[in-house]
Amino acid sequence: MINLDNLKILLSTPKDIVITSHRNPDGDAVGSSLALYHFLKTRNHSITVAFPSEFPPIFEWMKDSDLILIHDIHTEEVNAKIDQADLVFALDYNSLDRIDRMGDYIAKAEKPIAMIDHHLYPDDFADFVFSDTTASSTCEMIYDFIQMMDSDKDLNIDIAEYIYTGILTDTGSFKYATSPKLFRIVSALMEKGIDNDKLQGAIFNSLKIKNLKLLGHCLNNRMEFLPEFKTGLITLTKKDYENFDIQRGDTEGIVNYLLMVSDIHLAAFITEQPTIVKISLRSKGDIAVNEICSKYFKGGGHKNASGGAYYGSLSNTVRKFKEILPSVSKLQTA
Ligand code: 5GP
Ligand code: MN
Repeated sequence: MINLDNLKILLSTPKDIVITSHRNPDGDAVGSSLALYHFLKTRNHSITVAFPSEFPPIFEWMKDSDLILIHDIHTEEVNAKIDQADLVFALDYNSLDRIDRMGDYIAKAEKPIAMIDHHLYPDDFADFVFSDTTASSTCEMIYDFIQMMDSDKDLNIDIAEYIYTGILTDTGSFKYATSPKLFRIVSALMEKGIDNDKLQGAIFNSLKIKNLKLLGHCLNNRMEFLPEFKTGLITLTKKDYENFDIQRGDTEGIVNYLLMVSDIHLAAFITEQPTIVKISLRSKGDIAVNEICSKYFKGGGHKNASGGAYYGSLSNTVRKFKEILPSVSKLQTA
């Protein structure tokens, strides 16, 4: 970590701290934020966790998740906490524009920022930088950070469970981005006493009936394959959002079904949002979807999992996506 010694000095006395993570927080965003929150709590800091938008209810079992502030809703309160802060943590995102207006406010406030993140190509916006693009998740890096702080004794079972949550969700239960080091960390978390069955149940067996109906609809009515480009896509309209009562988090993971087809190497999930069309891409092997997202959809992410947006109609977005496919050379050889 760049500037670790200075960060240690800063954190050696009680401080006002704001922990932030990205829009549409996932298990890694919520898990890393609350793991770091509970770790810093052991040192008597005064800490606020703030996200740009709400997090899925499946993470409400985490202690103090009810204290998390949402910038879209509690704008003034979050801004006041930023004004008061001695330090802002930026977790699981690599650029302030990933947190929208909250990012503008943080940039203007000119507070020291500590970034902990595993996305490619981090922007230069932080004073303390811990970037590891080989890490499975930001949660894996929170584990590393606690070790760097020589504080394994403070890594209690709650913290271990939240770290494990982000590892589980970002690796798709150990399907992607694993490493020998990750399994060593998981082993250490198990030794702290985490309950794998309980956590798998809380995170993955927590669907509502409407989620399965939505999945059925996606697979039955909204799925298309372009075998010549080894590509599959699923689209959802605004009307689908109404008909299936789709809330934040409800579409998580649907895109991955496309990659279960053996000859499909690129998967797209394209959804009509109130003001934009959101695109989520996933790939197998050498196809770098972060490049597609940054070049054509004002987005980015990881090599095999990225997202972005298109400012136009759903049908134009799909047309644009299909136009791009012939230029993705790896698709021809994959
Ligand atoms: P998802 O498709 O699940 O929304 O996101 C997949 C990955 O791409 C995540 O790691 C996320 O951080 C990244 N990502 C999603 N949307 C955007 C975006 O609009 N901009 C950037 N830079 N990254 C994104
Ligand atoms: Mn992550």
